[in-house]
Amino acid sequence: MSSPSLTRREFLQTTTAAGATAAVTHLAPSLLWGQAPGISGSAQPVPTWASKPQRWAQLTLVEDDPIHFDPAFWFDYFQRTRSDGGCVAYYPTDIPFHHRSAWLNNRDVLGELVTGCRKLNMSVLIRTDPHATYDDAKAAHPDWIAVDAQGNPRRHWSSPEMWVTCALGPYNFEFMTAVHKEIMSRYKPDGLFFNRWDGSGDCYCIHCGENFKAASGLDLPRTTNPQDPARKAYIQWRSDRLISLIDLWNAEIRKINPEASSIPNNGSGAHNPLNTIALSERTPMLVADRQARRGLAAPWLMGKTAKEYRATMGNKPVIGLFGVGVEEPYRWKDSVNSSAEIRIWVLDSLANGMRPWFSKFSATLHDERWLNGVEDIYLWTQKNQHYLTHQQPLARVALVYSQQTALYYGGDHAQTKVEDHALGWYQALIESRIPFEMVHDHNLDSAHLAPYKTIILPNIAALSDAQCDQLRAFVKNGGSLIATHETSLYNELGAPRKNFALADLFAVDFTGNRPVPQNPPPMLNSYIRLEHQALPHHAIFSGLEDAPRVINAVSRLEVTPSQPFAETPLTLIPSYPDLPMEKVYPRQQKTNISCLYLRQPAGRIAYFPSDIDRTFWEVLCADHLKLLRNTLLWANNEPPEIEVLGPGLLDVTVWRNPGSITIHLVNLTNPMTMKGPYRDFFPIGEQTLKLRLPEALHPKQARLLVAEKSVVVDRSGEVLTITVPSVLDHEVVAIDI
Ligand SMILES: [Zn+2]
Repeated sequence: MSSPSLTRREFLQTTTAAGATAAVTHLAPSLLWGQAPGISGSAQPVPTWASKPQRWAQLTLVEDDPIHFDPAFWFDYFQRTRSDGGCVAYYPTDIPFHHRSAWLNNRDVLGELVTGCRKLNMSVLIRTDPHATYDDAKAAHPDWIAVDAQGNPRRHWSSPEMWVTCALGPYNFEFMTAVHKEIMSRYKPDGLFFNRWDGSGDCYCIHCGENFKAASGLDLPRTTNPQDPARKAYIQWRSDRLISLIDLWNAEIRKINPEASSIPNNGSGAHNPLNTIALSERTPMLVADRQARRGLAAPWLMGKTAKEYRATMGNKPVIGLFGVGVEEPYRWKDSVNSSAEIRIWVLDSLANGMRPWFSKFSATLHDERWLNGVEDIYLWTQKNQHYLTHQQPLARVALVYSQQTALYYGGDHAQTKVEDHALGWYQALIESRIPFEMVHDHNLDSAHLAPYKTIILPNIAALSDAQCDQLRAFVKNGGSLIATHETSLYNELGAPRKNFALADLFAVDFTGNRPVPQNPPPMLNSYIRLEHQALPHHAIFSGLEDAPRVINAVSRLEVTPSQPFAETPLTLIPSYPDLPMEKVYPRQQKTNISCLYLRQPAGRIAYFPSDIDRTFWEVLCADHLKLLRNTLLWANNEPPEIEVLGPGLLDVTVWRNPGSITIHLVNLTNPMTMKGPYRDFFPIGEQTLKLRLPEALHPKQARLLVAEKSVVVDRSGEVLTITVPSVLDHEVVAIDI
């Protein structure tokens, strides 16, 4: 810890005297409260058109809308929902090959919509989608069309009268630049929102071949293996080329409207192949397009997306784009999801700091059942806007995500090798009701890590020497680290190292026996022995006092300790036969092979050589949850900033706002939580909140923003206790300070 000798009073005085507290060393918990707002993704100010709107509305016209739709209905709905930002698209263009709606006649529907939105005082983005074009464009400019690996121009997979365009050649760089300039000149929108602007998979057109060769000296890659030199170079080249496209579009539209900006629709998290740090620096706001969950996605996924965007955007607005339909591979784009499912998706985004943006395809409504639900959420956010203007998340734990690990180490297996480790920790933190943030692995500098006591590295395999130095500095300054499996065993481009770059922190060495997938197979029927006798009442055993052993993870690295460990609470019971049944008995009851390496050089370090986090996501074993949670609490080693005691599964987030603290409780207790859609909500019983607040801060009053009533605050020293009688879908406790 940076200043253990200071009393809290001295601490606050120090903070005040120092003025800005963008301290470059690790912060003690109380300094959080005196800290300047979080680090922004860019020093450039956010223009008002991007900072002001709290509720966005997107209307994506379909081609025959001009003869069917009723603009007055939509203006009324924008007004009813208090939408203050809008995104619309159909106008009579003068640019050759810019397709006009066959139903447009002489109308300028785009102009009508922009004028109407401006009358409502809305910020306006205009959406373009460059990913497909028609026969006439292909005939005149065959080089605009994307080409497959066999050299054939690509037909559109869904609309066979169309062609897929190349995102990296003249279609985007020349034709779409002209379109964007025309739109900006005619309608003066605040910005342009690009959908599917970054291509539809690998392209083997003449421009891609020539440009890639000029940049790298290589031919286009023919394999997806990220360690293939051409693929490795292509990953970087493609990202650079798309960032330069955003630079071009920004430069051209700003000649017409200096305040305007490109808002590219892009992915998030470790899977995103674009350089999100570079992208975040170029945009005043970003839109996270997560229409709805699908398959086995958890309802907290929208919150995870919010945390990932915030990790690179800082305090700039992050917008949660949600759809109202069923989002599965079958693409029912005109459908309406259950109102409970739409609602939980949006509520979790709000709790995690996003501003909502509804997205509606087709202005002609085939099913109106979503309208009232969205209106209800939007009106609630408007009514409580004062408490939703989030300034800073109050979290002491951060989960690191790494695009380079997914791209260069994970490759085609990034979901299981990389993302599933993070999802395991995410689920464990949600179940443990511990507020946390996510951190991009290119932001491991001391300023970005300053708010956190503990950083979790879920199999962050690909790390540079410089990144490892940053982690060393974090620990030296009192920060704690938890790492799993192959963390730091590869360099930043996914090339294997002989030993962990963080071997000194872990105090273990890799033996060199690198596990080959499936050979030897993952560990079957292996266990973890809890060494109660040697270490009675160890923190790692909390809730497992009666468990002599628990199931193991399924993949384990062979490592050897480089120094003696004072405590080895978890040891390996190696795999033994699981068939025939007569043979199912442990050959070794006890080994001295550790399953968890704990040490305390300055901050605390916990290293699991196994994929216990990924195994937890696959198996969801409650014993693994306890081990992960106990390890985190051991590492964090400070009184919790907040505890929420009571039944149920909750996503808990805590925010510091101008003049208030807000605590969001999103009730995920639902039979359809791990496989939606929700049918309904089920109230959970009384929750007791214990919030640690420096004694110098005095709460004036506390309110429940959903139940719409005041609540009593009991104070004992630093701890405020508030009781929430029940939570149906969500509750927000707002404490004025
Ligand atoms: Zn191409």
